[in-house]
Amino acid sequence: MKTFKNKSIIITGAAMGLGYATAKFLAEKGADLTLVDFNKEKLEETAKELKDAFSIRVVSVVADVSKEESVKEYVAKAKEAFSKIDGFYNNAGIEGRQADMVDYDLDVFKKVIDINLMGVYYGLRYVLPELVANGGGRIVNVASVGGIRGVLNQTPYVASKHAVAGMTKNAALEYGKHQIFTNAIAPGAILTPMVAEAFKQVNPDDPKAAEADYAQRNPTRRLGKPEEVASLVAYLLSDDCNYVNGQVIAIDGGESNMYGNA
Ligand code: NAD
Repeated sequence: MKTFKNKSIIITGAAMGLGYATAKFLAEKGADLTLVDFNKEKLEETAKELKDAFSIRVVSVVADVSKEESVKEYVAKAKEAFSKIDGFYNNAGIEGRQADMVDYDLDVFKKVIDINLMGVYYGLRYVLPELVANGGGRIVNVASVGGIRGVLNQTPYVASKHAVAGMTKNAALEYGKHQIFTNAIAPGAILTPMVAEAFKQVNPDDPKAAEADYAQRNPTRRLGKPEEVASLVAYLLSDDCNYVNGQVIAIDGGESNMYGNA
């Protein structure tokens, strides 16, 4: 894969999990990074770690992606620091609580939609014009297997991730003429803090048992690793990704192809 030297990349949800893993992967390849997260403490830790380890330029912006003004601000800060934007990992998202569709708490429902759908949309709204000005670029939105399949007890999550898949296709159609390639990834269960929390909800007494049970149902008999996702995202953000556009790419060990037990 080509170097990311002099490539200005924005990553949302960069403090932990999939965002952190991709930030580290791109830092190793020399990218100029704008890291965005609403967890100030963890974000600062990540920014310092990557600057110290890889001697790269890092800007960190504490922002909630569901607030339009905050999105404008992180885009402006990236532009101010690196004078351009080449790539955008539109990753920040939450799962919400797990509950039957009819009983789902409406405040949580709206929060999931605000972050996962509106947050991704605001990102596209303010980054796309910068990529046009740049003469092209790459966007990776984060959907989920829940963006291509139903997932029990996660109605707003599934609704928001299907919306991410839809917005990806539209961005690809509307902005391909500017040499902007927009794709989405659809991860299965990748062991991050978000997924660890989900296993606690499934089995509060023994989350590790819930994890083992889940892994057993995957064709590979294991969960995915954040670094495996980072490597796919890095390809989609690189100049090597030159004609893949509007795709929703599952990275789930093949699980979304399964009908019944493997
Ligand atoms: P995580 O909870 O481990 O990390 C998410 C990061 O995003 C955290 O640092 C959090 O502080 C930040 N964040 C959340 N809401 C934010 C907001 N409103 N504004 C700014 N920052 C915010 O989660 P993860 O597993 O790394 O998930 C990252 C993305 O991948 C999410 O969109 C998630 O839906 C998606 N995803 C994850 C998995 C998985 O198995 N881990 C599977 C499918 C999809």
